[in-house]
Amino acid sequence: MFELKAREGLARLGKFTHNNHTIITPNIAVVVNPNKQIIPPKELENEFGVDLIITNAYIIKNSKKPIKNLHEFYKFSGLIYTDSGTYQMYSKGEVGITNEETLRIQKELGSDIITPLDVFTLPSDSKLDALRKLIETNKRIKNSLTQNMVAPIQGGIHLDLRKKACKELSKINPLIYAIGGIVPLMNAYDFKRLTEIVLACKQNLPSNVPVHAFGAGHPIIFSLLALLGIDLFDSASYALFAREGRYLTEYGTKKINEMQFLPCNCKICASHTIKELQNDFSLLARHNLYVIMREIKLIREAIHEHKLFDLVSSRIRAHPSLYYAYKWLLEQAPFMDSDPVTKHSAFFWTGPLSDLRPELLRAKARLKELGFKKVPRPLKLMYPFGQSEGIKFNYSKKKYNDLETLRLLADYQLGKGAGKTLFPERTRIVYTRNRRINKAFLDNELLCVLRASDGHIILHKAGAMRIKKFLKKVEVNKEVAQFPKSGKSVFAKHVVKASPGIIPCMEVLVTCNNMPIAVGESLLNSKEMKEFKSGVAVQVREGL
Ligand SMILES: [Zn+2]
Repeated sequence: MFELKAREGLARLGKFTHNNHTIITPNIAVVVNPNKQIIPPKELENEFGVDLIITNAYIIKNSKKPIKNLHEFYKFSGLIYTDSGTYQMYSKGEVGITNEETLRIQKELGSDIITPLDVFTLPSDSKLDALRKLIETNKRIKNSLTQNMVAPIQGGIHLDLRKKACKELSKINPLIYAIGGIVPLMNAYDFKRLTEIVLACKQNLPSNVPVHAFGAGHPIIFSLLALLGIDLFDSASYALFAREGRYLTEYGTKKINEMQFLPCNCKICASHTIKELQNDFSLLARHNLYVIMREIKLIREAIHEHKLFDLVSSRIRAHPSLYYAYKWLLEQAPFMDSDPVTKHSAFFWTGPLSDLRPELLRAKARLKELGFKKVPRPLKLMYPFGQSEGIKFNYSKKKYNDLETLRLLADYQLGKGAGKTLFPERTRIVYTRNRRINKAFLDNELLCVLRASDGHIILHKAGAMRIKKFLKKVEVNKEVAQFPKSGKSVFAKHVVKASPGIIPCMEVLVTCNNMPIAVGESLLNSKEMKEFKSGVAVQVREGL
């Protein structure tokens, strides 16, 4: 079960529940090797806050230690994910396990999340080879699908093949989708191609299943991948890098032997000297993991605060390839259906790339639709105009009285003509102590509240009924109609139909048999409302 709690760009802060465990996404599956437990799983859980580990069926098969049950062996109470051995077979060039064998081993071990043996596709594979591998991978997935299985997406660097893989696998219902075959691109710093592939996959997969970027374990790439809608990462990098004497930071990897200072204040760096880290890779591994976990938490908080674009735009400065990948991504404008129409945090303009962010693209498009060349002054009240730093909007000189102001805000937010319909001449405006517009009434009935934080018109019963034709509709099942009518939220599983063009944080009308029954704010977009089976779709404000 997967539900969304907050979002920005294509990023999602989610809650994933499986086998009686609930974890927050984005999350990272920390790789654990049964033969070399540098950090024991119990310590991962208690010291690092890890609630998801991943271990490998292929390594376990070849391990000398007899392992019967993963939860008992690792003494780990979180979720245990198993990988099939695909990557080991690719990196070591061995053919050591079959699909049937790896799935049987994973099931017998009591793994929570099992992975079939997909066929690793190299970036250098021709389209024909990539297609053959894709067909074989999809055949294996379909033949062995169970309810706790991952569906790996192959297709190499060929975007049409990635799309084909996603379309085919959209018809089945796996626990998780995993984008495979991307490690060589990350190792080569080919982040642009990585971005193209992830975007192509995200645009062709259902929204209600978490997506894992297989092998993405360096914190330098987490925020960009999260912005693209990746929910799960995995990392062996904390240990692999430590063995090579490499010290991870959010902006790149350093050689511990060449460092003079420890630019980190994790438990390890705060209580050890650089010499101790140079001489003990288990300390280095612990530092590396602290950095990884900190970045994951930072990303979650950034999504919650609507500050992920700011985090990404600082992280991409770490390498030109990241910068160009982000620039390419913004140029595709892929966020318009999913990025909330209003945000908790002010918009910060921090350079020319900010001009390509969805908040400004949307504002420009709205002004154009309404026929404004300059920004009408009343829009200073509304997000993002009045809630921004570092950007000068070209405001017109025209003066507006308060009724005209309200009408303009309604036209901007709800569509051309909404203002006059919602606010007739006899509208009574109520002000705050500082003479800000606060509420609007008609014949003593509350039409709306003007939210101070973003200038949005928050509709109440009388207002929603007046402009129902301007509002997008969310049709619910008639068995549950009494809940929104009494002011309770609409759950995604009860949505029968949703108008196209619903974006998170929009005012929407809840209907039943096409009759309005409630007004509220959308938390999901139209596609998600149809696809999600759990979580809230509309936060209802008032029944009608
Ligand atoms: Zn540290």
